[in-house]
Amino acid sequence: MTQNHYDVIIIGGGVSGSALFYELGRYTDIKNICLLEKYGSLASLNSNGSANSQTIHCGDIETNYTLEKAAKVKTTANMVEKYCLQHGYEDKVIFSHQKMALGVGFEEVEYMKNRFNEFKELYPYLELYDKEKLAQIEPAVVFDKDGNEREEEIVAVGCEGEYTTVDYKALSDTFIDNTLKIKDKVTDIFFNNEVKHIQKIGSTYHVQTTMSQFTADFVVVDAGAHSLYLAHKMGHGLDYGCLPMAGSFYISNRKILNGKVYMVQNPKLPFAALHGDPDILVNGFTRFGPTALMLPKLERFKPGTYLDFFKTLRLDFNVIKIFIDLLKDSDIRNYVFRNFLFEVPYINKKLFLQDARKIVPSLCEDDITYAKGFGGVRPQILDKKNQKLMLGEASIDTGEGIIFNMTPSPGATSCLGNAVRDVKVICEYLGFKFNEKCFNEELIKDKTKAKKELKQEALV
Ligand SMILES: Cc1cc2nc3c(=O)[nH]c(=O)nc-3n(C[C@H](O)[C@H](O)[C@H](O)COP(=O)(O)OP(=O)(O)OC[C@H]3O[C@@H](n4cnc5c(N)ncnc54)[C@H](O)[C@@H]3O)c2cc1C
Repeated sequence: MTQNHYDVIIIGGGVSGSALFYELGRYTDIKNICLLEKYGSLASLNSNGSANSQTIHCGDIETNYTLEKAAKVKTTANMVEKYCLQHGYEDKVIFSHQKMALGVGFEEVEYMKNRFNEFKELYPYLELYDKEKLAQIEPAVVFDKDGNEREEEIVAVGCEGEYTTVDYKALSDTFIDNTLKIKDKVTDIFFNNEVKHIQKIGSTYHVQTTMSQFTADFVVVDAGAHSLYLAHKMGHGLDYGCLPMAGSFYISNRKILNGKVYMVQNPKLPFAALHGDPDILVNGFTRFGPTALMLPKLERFKPGTYLDFFKTLRLDFNVIKIFIDLLKDSDIRNYVFRNFLFEVPYINKKLFLQDARKIVPSLCEDDITYAKGFGGVRPQILDKKNQKLMLGEASIDTGEGIIFNMTPSPGATSCLGNAVRDVKVICEYLGFKFNEKCFNEELIKDKTKAKKELKQEALV
């Protein structure tokens, strides 16, 4: 064993890598764990609060989720909530606002009513808000700039009192802090160590960074958009390409909305619908977005990564076919073009405003500014074999002691869920024990039961 040898090396200190670091430390008997991060701090890319929408996507107001998908994300979202409550992170890492999905016009109103009936069993706390109720709890979605009620029919499905918002950078920090407190284990983190090369020699992985050389029995690559880049370098995931979709935001100069307001999603569009909500990092001022623009680089607001993009796209006939099929649809074509214009100075704000007014009819140009430095990149996966754009996350488990995770939205919400999936694979592969009982007790147990217990504990 060399000094730099670990049972498991995790590459990437975003919320996915940090969550895995925590779970390996807390719920397994693995003794040596290492995390390698390219930059000087945790969660400086997509997991940063300024990069993403800070939402816990638990499936109740996400109109692009089927009931089946909603049930799945509900379990993983619940893990984040349970973790935060267990450690007392309310109003520090996790926040509660009201939230809703808003239907505007006859078709969307009918859709929302039907969806409410379909989803209320899975989410018993959901309520159907009519215009009158909305005027009380979220007046900005009802009144125009003259103070008159908007003409269109509206209805919303939502709730109050649930946890809705997470500072995913702060969450990443807590995962690491709590792991470093664990005694009798080696839990090392190396910042400013960009992994350049991974090679398997015998049963050992040799990981070369810009600073040093490490070895491990198992490697998990949680490097965001770079996961597929590193996979390709090793000859894995060659049937996939990565399409980086940047998302930008506009920010208001005051508090306009009391909670999260999502719009009804066009089912043809693979990216989450525009929404507005209080930004926990900017005084609760309202943030609108995200937009969706294909960007020829893997990291937003960082120099370079253009070449990495071209390498990871692996442009060929299949990729071109995927693009052609997408652009054949007039809805998608218009959406792509419109989102491109959202980034063009002078016209961007005017156009964005038209869309955002569907949420807040009184919104005017002076209310919002382009949020400079906000936004990130969603590494959407192109499935070249089936010539399709994949909608959600993807994981390549090679079965050879290395896993690569690609995490577009809702990757932050599912950090603990994705991590436990990998923990089980790692323990099985290396012959370590996963303390499933403790994991279930702490992160799965029924939420309402846990809340009641917390209240009882507080009373005692
Ligand atoms: C506009 C937008 C809005 C979103 N909104 C939401 C939301 O509301 N809710 C939600 O759940 N999700 C949301 N997401 C998705 C969410 O942000 C991501 O799924 C999540 O942050 C992914 O975390 P990660 O740790 O996998 O990747 P990242 O946060 O990208 O972290 C990857 C880490 O790997 C490091 N790294 C990269 N290459 C190397 C290397 N070679 N060596 C060492 N380290 C390396 C990077 O420096 C980085 O720290 C949104 C995303 C965007 C872009």
